[in-house]
Amino acid sequence: AEQEYCKRTEKSRKLYEVAQRVMPGGDTRTIAFFKPYPLTMDRGSGPRLYDVDGNKYSDFLNNYTAMIHGHAHPYILRHVKTALGLGTAYAAAIVEQSQLAAILCKRIPGVEQVRFCNSGTEATMFALRAARAFTGRPAIIKMEGGYHGTHDAVEFSIAPGNARDKNHLAWAPIPDTRGVPESVARDVYIAPFNDAGAVEEILQQKGEEIAAILVEPVMGVAGVIPPQPGYLQELRRLADQYGILLIFDEVQTYRLDTGGAQRRFGVTPDLTAIGKIIGGGFPVGAFGGRSDVMALFDPRQSGCLSQSGTFNGNRATMVAGIASMELLNEQAITRLEELGLRLETGMVSAIRRYALPASVTRVGSMLNLHFTEHPPADYTSTISPHKGLSKVVHLELLNRGIFTAPRGMWNLSTVMEEADIDQAIDAFTDVMSKISRFV
Ligand code: PMP
Repeated sequence: AEQEYCKRTEKSRKLYEVAQRVMPGGDTRTIAFFKPYPLTMDRGSGPRLYDVDGNKYSDFLNNYTAMIHGHAHPYILRHVKTALGLGTAYAAAIVEQSQLAAILCKRIPGVEQVRFCNSGTEATMFALRAARAFTGRPAIIKMEGGYHGTHDAVEFSIAPGNARDKNHLAWAPIPDTRGVPESVARDVYIAPFNDAGAVEEILQQKGEEIAAILVEPVMGVAGVIPPQPGYLQELRRLADQYGILLIFDEVQTYRLDTGGAQRRFGVTPDLTAIGKIIGGGFPVGAFGGRSDVMALFDPRQSGCLSQSGTFNGNRATMVAGIASMELLNEQAITRLEELGLRLETGMVSAIRRYALPASVTRVGSMLNLHFTEHPPADYTSTISPHKGLSKVVHLELLNRGIFTAPRGMWNLSTVMEEADIDQAIDAFTDVMSKISRFV
């Protein structure tokens, strides 16, 4: 796979060599790196990407779920183009900011009030600050495998590997990066996903310390792992029982319903972190929730919480975000659901045809290929001796014009057609046939 990849991407390789002289690893996103070197993209249009060598790809990654309407969507583009002529950011509010805020408050059950920032990282950071200030407690519970961005408090047990000591308590955090002080770990407790019992155990012992449960209602980065029936409801009950806040990180999962996963699964959190699709392709994050908690950020109150950002609520993001939300109506969600099911069915039948030890998880328009016999229910069950095959599949798919994530994530955009899905299934089937010889 690698040889073929290198042959097709000579210009990307050269540009990578130049870039890595001035940026460590040649880019600014750890996650975007893969061996032998990542692609340099020239442009995107609708569901398609074109690299600098002129190769064409169907984009089944959509910037890690953010580009729900594909690239350069004419409706979004038209609004942004008009808006750009007015200037982009002025250290003053613009009307589009409260318009996008109103859309989000109307749509998302748990969001009564909202504040904007520039990334999902900031969104979870501010949600945690709010929870800590509101409860007066320092610690948080997060799930093993849960990804919430890159600030210190959440850089634990995202990918602890299978090196986790069996005697290690499930709730001791394992740092995912160096450079985070050990003192931060003291306020982080870890529970496996889909295990409300583990959360309850932590609360029984440490309840007095804990401010919030932070959870992705469907695990994204860990491999699109759905919540088992009753799990989110049980977290809601525990949060109420212990007087702490339930925070849903919907940075990825907001795409699952016009009201996010919380509407889809019928569980309302106290605070919600969002991002990605609400910026229509521009940098964005937002957090919102109960108005008594969000009131902490009101500068008219003494002792209000600080939350600033030079480009918070900037015009390009707000205008693109409004257009993106307008395009994401109930029909769009239904359409994504149909296309998602079509892709899942095709992938599963390819896996069966070659009797591979693989499975597919899916919720709506988000899917993940796993090299496990059964669809995993938590981080630990994603680990398999064949996990390395995901990287091979990724390169083989690139060679066939299908752009996905190296670790097996796929997701869809509203501008895709049945033919795009079927073409991807054909490519996937071909790859499964090839790798069946190695397994
Ligand atoms: N939370 C979740 C669930 C995410 O998937 C991501 C990004 N993939 C983030 C937070 C961080 O968002 P950002 O990259 O915008 O900082």
